[in-house]
Amino acid sequence: MSATCPVCETQSGDFPVIHAAVRDASDAYEPSALQCSACSAVFLWPHMDAAAQQAFYDSNAQLLNTHGDDFDWNDYTRRTRTDVMRRVAFMTPHLSTDHRLLETGCGYGFFLSEICGKVDTAIGIEPGSARQAFAKDELRLDVRSPPLSTAGIPPASINVACAFQVLEHIDRPVPFLSEIRDVLRPDGLLIVEVPNFADLYVRLSASYRAFHFQSAHLVYFTPATLQRVVEASGFTVESLIGVQRYAFGNALHWLTKGRPQLKRPSRNVESGLARVADRLYRRCLESTRRSDTLICIARNARTAAD
Ligand SMILES: [Zn+2]
Repeated sequence: MSATCPVCETQSGDFPVIHAAVRDASDAYEPSALQCSACSAVFLWPHMDAAAQQAFYDSNAQLLNTHGDDFDWNDYTRRTRTDVMRRVAFMTPHLSTDHRLLETGCGYGFFLSEICGKVDTAIGIEPGSARQAFAKDELRLDVRSPPLSTAGIPPASINVACAFQVLEHIDRPVPFLSEIRDVLRPDGLLIVEVPNFADLYVRLSASYRAFHFQSAHLVYFTPATLQRVVEASGFTVESLIGVQRYAFGNALHWLTKGRPQLKRPSRNVESGLARVADRLYRRCLESTRRSDTLICIARNARTAAD
């Protein structure tokens, strides 16, 4: 079967299979993870078709796959808040009260609702119908349906665009980021956060590696893959940063028990010697970009004269 690399567009019937299955395979969708022989990008093949993707997001399938049948909304929002406030702290120095901000894949709108007071305009794009409805009806946010090209956002009108844990869900990431670039001002900033396939524990734990592959994640980014995609989309990369979301306790759980801490993952260590050790642990992973997460900060390479 011939596959097309979603990063460099090389076509081949001989891309090696590096993992045979995803953790949430179904009768309808059983992809394998291939590695592109030309650019080394890792991706699922075959890709989920567009109708199946929409059904996947409308049914909140990723959340239910991750949390199980006893999904608890209050527990979910409390855990999500750690990431939301980390992103608010990270984004704030890049924002000004006269900025227009776009978040693609804004989910329930938790980040947008925290950040909207720091900018002039905050717009979200969200494919999942329940998430979009919550963001609009409960949080009173300006959230629109994809694709971005028909969302009514004028070209070159956005100062800062962000996408947190979204790019790995996109089957063709370069055209996706190019569409974002079209609505960015010539000096506009792009901030993208993705899971890191160069995560140290993908190497150290076979069970963690197997858990890593899931049907919603179509592309598996390393620092090199992410830089390649962002640059191919017309951006200049300013920095590519490692971020460790999960604490040392989560890694120990994987290495000793071979399974995730689904209910209460270790995130923040609050006190004592354990906090010092955790900070050191995070710093080691982040400085070598072997952390669980990557953030790319990039500038629109198109100038006002283009
Ligand atoms: Zn490739």
